[in-house]
Amino acid sequence: MQVQRVVLNSRPGKNGAPVPENFRLEEITLAPDRKDGEVLVRTLYLSVDPYMRCRMNEDTGADYLTPWQISKCVDGGGVGVIDSSRCNNFAAGDVVISFNWPWQTHAVMTGSDLQKVDPQLVDGHLSYFLGAVGITGLTALLGIREKGHITKGANHTMVVSGAAGACGSIAGQIGRLDGCVRVVGICGSDEKCKAIVEDLGFSTAINYHLEDVPTKLKESCPDGVDVYFDNVGGAISDAVIAQMNNGSHIILCGQISQYNKDVPYPPPLSEETQKNLQSKNITRERFTVLNYMSKADAALCELSQWIKSGRIKVLETVVNGIENMGDAFCSMMKGGNIGKQIIKISH
Ligand code: NDP
Repeated sequence: MQVQRVVLNSRPGKNGAPVPENFRLEEITLAPDRKDGEVLVRTLYLSVDPYMRCRMNEDTGADYLTPWQISKCVDGGGVGVIDSSRCNNFAAGDVVISFNWPWQTHAVMTGSDLQKVDPQLVDGHLSYFLGAVGITGLTALLGIREKGHITKGANHTMVVSGAAGACGSIAGQIGRLDGCVRVVGICGSDEKCKAIVEDLGFSTAINYHLEDVPTKLKESCPDGVDVYFDNVGGAISDAVIAQMNNGSHIILCGQISQYNKDVPYPPPLSEETQKNLQSKNITRERFTVLNYMSKADAALCELSQWIKSGRIKVLETVVNGIENMGDAFCSMMKGGNIGKQIIKISH
């Protein structure tokens, strides 16, 4: 069987922006024989995510992430369907997901790398398993619940950076549902600002490319900031932290503005921001969703119910074709996506 796959062609360097040419499309032949425990899967959707930028480096800087190898098939979050099975736990037609799905149109995988999922959880929108009812939805929900300390009735104001992205777009909606009276999103275009306010119910949105973030924050958060869901770090976060209240909380989700730089994670803060944290007793604990997977099943049910009832809306940017994986990844890293960036590989 002939299949297409994407391999790592070159590394951008620790201090470089990734380019589509860092990836290469190849055709290979899958051997017809399967061993016991193996299944043949057909890929439906693949995910591109910011953490993959670390996997492009020779050293990822994180012990739970292995580097992608040059000329080897790239992998990440994927959802697909079992074509044929020599594994007792799976039958043809089962829908399955994996965090280590090869960027390949069909693949031979071992059953232990796969998890069977129930399409009813997402009303048949199988790509949601990679986003709102998958790792990014979990990141938003568990990040808020573990580190946000939102109190209903306490008139909390929440700010979300990267607000129109996969995690941010869900986090802002959860902030509202969990009781914040005001949810302000910061993102990179007027189109994104319009989407998060009109479609997702954010109170206000700030376009950080066109508007002065400190001034707009002052206007939008007259009572200061109580909860900050931080996806980006850098100057945007310095501006938000400067307006946070005493005893407020940061959900340190990600720092994408620093991912093309050779700095440790989390990147060091400026002296002024560090002083702000200390003098106002602001918590800023690192959050890693993979440390909370024991809570994943209940959280996924909650997300699923919110989405089915229409209380959470899901935004996606879908690109077609495995040949566009590299483009889609680089575009997402530069803000080309609204909602979760998905690549559709087959029907
Ligand atoms: P998104 O869908 O948010 O896509 C990335 C977005 O980042 C882009 O669309 C862009 O939006 C924004 N961005 C890129 N460069 C910059 C910059 N220099 N300054 C400000 N914004 C920038 O990705 P995800 O939702 O998948 O991830 C969001 C964050 O969450 C990342 O930092 C990621 O590492 C983190 N994360 C953390 C997890 C955890 O366990 N802690 C798990 C999953 C994700 P714009 O147009 O607004 O600039």
